Amino acid sequence: MDYYELLGLDKTADAKEIKSSYRKLAMKYHPDRNPDNAEAEEKFKQINEAYAILSNPEKKQRFDTYGSADPQAQFSGDIFDIFNSFFGAGGGVGGAGQAARSRGFDGEDLEANLVVTYEEARAGATVPLKVDRMQACDRCDGNRAEPGSEGKKTCPSCQGAGQVRRQTQSIFGTMVSNQVCQQCRGAGEVVVTPCGKCSGAGRQKATESVDVSLPKGIDGGYRLRIPQEGNVGIDGGRKGDLYVYIDIEPHESFTRDGDDLHYQLDIGVAQATLGSAFEIPTIDAEEENEALNVPAGTQPGTEFRLRGKGMPRLQRSGVGDLVVTVNVVVPNKLSTEAKEAMENYAKLANEEIEEKENLMDRIKGLFS
Ligand SMILES: [Zn+2]
Ligand SMILES: [Zn+2]
Repeated sequence: MDYYELLGLDKTADAKEIKSSYRKLAMKYHPDRNPDNAEAEEKFKQINEAYAILSNPEKKQRFDTYGSADPQAQFSGDIFDIFNSFFGAGGGVGGAGQAARSRGFDGEDLEANLVVTYEEARAGATVPLKVDRMQACDRCDGNRAEPGSEGKKTCPSCQGAGQVRRQTQSIFGTMVSNQVCQQCRGAGEVVVTPCGKCSGAGRQKATESVDVSLPKGIDGGYRLRIPQEGNVGIDGGRKGDLYVYIDIEPHESFTRDGDDLHYQLDIGVAQATLGSAFEIPTIDAEEENEALNVPAGTQPGTEFRLRGKGMPRLQRSGVGDLVVTVNVVVPNKLSTEAKEAMENYAKLANEEIEEKENLMDRIKGLFS
């Protein structure tokens, strides 16, 4: 999510511009001004998230640098906390405030894990995820009453107020407080004949498939929020969100370090010594292998960088590199001929060393 774009700003915006833009948009999309408008509510949530990040110098810097807020702990908390801290507590726009907004029972947020492949992360694929969640009861359609029954009636406990006054005795005398009605949970109405399938709960458990669209270049450890894919609400409450924790399935050829992919190239002693041409597989199965020339005298651990053959940069443009690390494999079994050749080489190498030592001795002799 680009927080600047959400607030209609470019990346050079200063604190004053961020504040001013947030104020305008928060007023525009506040749920009190847009009753029963899920899109506006989602927008309001995003604007608050954007402001929470961009108004915090530390988080803003992180976002500016990495194009993402702290991946482990993105935004959480009540969006109205931000709104209220900005406009003052009880900052309803239309005067009704939060009481009118939260009639009914909001569905709970859910969490799920999703394991994706390197290829899916690279492509920004849409991956189906099975989720166990509460859905509206298919017998009563979520309204909790047995079909064909009298429906709902005013709650006898609170006479429709949704709240009950409670008196308690304390050392200070009689205390009176208003509490949410236990029988109707604040709705003011109760079902006359509860639905036979959900016993009047209005919801039932279901396993469903949710499409998770991955941002290109996503890595393990990130959390995605999918709005309104959590549990369904009751009596007009909103749906909860689904939080998806991403894990990456290990790849048989590559490992990953941020945007870069790493590949280990095993080569023989002779190839490292004399130089040789190799073909390196890439993450894109459609693409041909990359040619890599390993020059004569290449040392174990030498790295070669194939530009732009890594993973896409998350929330930024560009692609990382494919880093090839040379691993020189020393043979532990040789044919008789190969052994003979190796022994000859060893002899030559020893003679070379001796020659050098003799030469050094002669030079030293000249100066002593
Ligand atoms: Zn039902
Ligand atoms: Zn009640």
